[in-house]
Amino acid sequence: MTRTILLIEDNEQNLYLATFLLEQKGYKVVPARSGTEGIATAARILPDLIILDIQLPQMDGYAVARELRQNPDLKAVPIVAVTSYAMVGDRERTLEAGCNGYIEKPINPDTFIGQIEQYLKANLPEGRTEP
Ligand code: MN
Repeated sequence: MTRTILLIEDNEQNLYLATFLLEQKGYKVVPARSGTEGIATAARILPDLIILDIQLPQMDGYAVARELRQNPDLKAVPIVAVTSYAMVGDRERTLEAGCNGYIEKPINPDTFIGQIEQYLKANLPEGRTEP
C-alpha cells in the first residue's frame, strides 16, 4: 500500500527536492504551501506522516504543529519538523509544539529518506515491518 506524506513547505526548491526524493522511493507526496493549507489538507487526507517546514509565512510551523495535534484524527501521525534555524532550544520547541522529530536544512539527499523512514517505522500498522 502506498504511504502518503504531506509536505508543508513554502519554498519551491525545497518542495521540489523533498518530493523528488520521496517519490523515487515510492511515496505519494501531497504538497501544501502554507500552514492553513497544510492543516486543512491533513484533516482531509489523513497522511501517514507530515513533514513540516518551521519557517512559513503568516502561521509558523510551531503554530501549525500545535493545531494539527488538536485534531484527534491526527494525534498519532508523526510530524517531522524541518528548519534551518540551528539555535539552541529549537529542537525542544518543535517537540513541545507536538513534533516527533527534527531535520536540519538544507536537506541532505543522502540521508533524508533514512531520517524520514525512522519516523514512519515508529508508526507502522500492526504486522508490518517495512514502511
Ligand atoms: Mn520556509
